Amino acid sequence: MNNIIDVVKEGLCTGCGTCAGLCPQDIIKMEINHEKGLYFPKLGEGCNECGICLEVCPGYEVDFIRLNKEIFGKEAESILIGHYENCYLGYSCDQDLRFAATSGGMITQILLYLLEEKMIDGALVVRMSDENPLEPEPFIARTKEDIINAKGSKYCPVPTNIKLKEIIESEDEKFAVVGLPCQIQGLRKAESLHKKLKNKIVLSLGIVCNHTPSFKATEFLLGKLGIEKEDVKSIIYRGEGWPGSLKVQTKNDDVLLQPEYWGTGFGQLFIPDRCHYCCDHMAELADMSFADPWLPEYSDEKIGQNIILSRKKDYILNEMEKKKILKLKKINPDKIIQSQINNIYYKKKLIKFKINKLPFYNTYLPKKDSIDILINIFKLNNIKLPWNIIKLHFYLYSILLSLKAKRDFLKKY
Ligand SMILES: Cc1cc2nc3c(=O)[nH]c(=O)nc-3n(C[C@H](O)[C@H](O)[C@H](O)COP(=O)(O)OP(=O)(O)OC[C@H]3O[C@@H](n4cnc5c(N)ncnc54)[C@H](O)[C@@H]3O)c2cc1C
Ligand code: SF4
Ligand code: SF4
Repeated sequence: MNNIIDVVKEGLCTGCGTCAGLCPQDIIKMEINHEKGLYFPKLGEGCNECGICLEVCPGYEVDFIRLNKEIFGKEAESILIGHYENCYLGYSCDQDLRFAATSGGMITQILLYLLEEKMIDGALVVRMSDENPLEPEPFIARTKEDIINAKGSKYCPVPTNIKLKEIIESEDEKFAVVGLPCQIQGLRKAESLHKKLKNKIVLSLGIVCNHTPSFKATEFLLGKLGIEKEDVKSIIYRGEGWPGSLKVQTKNDDVLLQPEYWGTGFGQLFIPDRCHYCCDHMAELADMSFADPWLPEYSDEKIGQNIILSRKKDYILNEMEKKKILKLKKINPDKIIQSQINNIYYKKKLIKFKINKLPFYNTYLPKKDSIDILINIFKLNNIKLPWNIIKLHFYLYSILLSLKAKRDFLKKY
């Protein structure tokens, strides 16, 4: 590979934006490919083949062992969830924020604390653009209001790391960065190369991620609500309690809610190919990772909680708890694995199988329910997982499901 255009051609680009953020010539721009509903980099005139774009690209290669040693001083103790100091369940003590944020509002609360304590001057976060409410806008939030306005998960592609340029170019300022696992991988690779950048980042907050739905998923949901793209004034993917509803406001000021967003399984139809080959669910290279509490004992949760993997700088969480800003309860790492078991096993155990690219696999991702039941039965009984049987099952199931998904999709859309 010579540059990031080869990464895109090989289908390895995650759309993270690190190459654009680090290009010294500033000739890489992230553009939406409307056919795929994804962001990809475009290389402009004047490339001097310095190779920096490839060096920082997480789509092309991530050396987890080297980066773990560099960041945490050792190899990860868990192949499934990475390195950790402590694991928690918790939430922000600000009830309004907790209700309005995605899970327990922890990420937003931590950013507010860092800003208030003058540990940072700004935070790299994402809001939906005012000009085009269906397009995300990564930006550096420098005020309390901007951090609060950026709360909430954006379930669409976001080239967050284009903004690393602004961080590098800033004078004597400190920042926090929020990102998906692939965005954090890009950040870490960039930090390895660029010590000035490394010195400016006080904390990286990772968002646990099974996949990012393409823009087509948003279009699909709008279609279900009977809204034209042009009529959208604002969109909030999740909020108003837990697990939260999709909320769309039209230009006529109608407000439409799609509460069963999380039960439709719609996202299964819009997973970018690259996410099929991702092996990092838990944002293993972030200082802290945040997830939803998908545990049976929290199935009645209505306001929101986070699952937190604290990998570095755990003292920040403890300080916040002492000041009654956060509520934290230590949990066993097994609880984290249990809460994300489907995705962790899917990403860690099926990766080799997926890379072999079985026919039909890339057409539609099968629902994993029956595979998950099988895995759980074997795990609960402490029986070694029969991967060959699971793979065969997965293959047959994927054919059936791809046909069903296609039929449902054509009927609805
Ligand atoms: C694409 C995606 C997939 C996810 N998959 C899972 C999953 O499989 N399992 C699970 O348990 N949790 C998943 N989550 C995480 C979960 O939805 C919450 O984001 C997380 O628990 C943090 O909640 P919070 O209340 O602390 O966040 P909030 O306080 O609401 O703050 C969220 C922060 O993340 C930033 N942000 C939002 N979307 C993006 C984005 N796309 N890229 C970069 N920054 C962003 C916001 O600007 C904000 O600062 C996913 C989130 C996303 C965006
Ligand atoms: S750095 Fe990110 S956006 Fe650029 S080519 Fe690599 S994966 Fe794609
Ligand atoms: S699944 Fe992996 S590659 Fe896809 S958006 Fe999430 S972290 Fe990035």
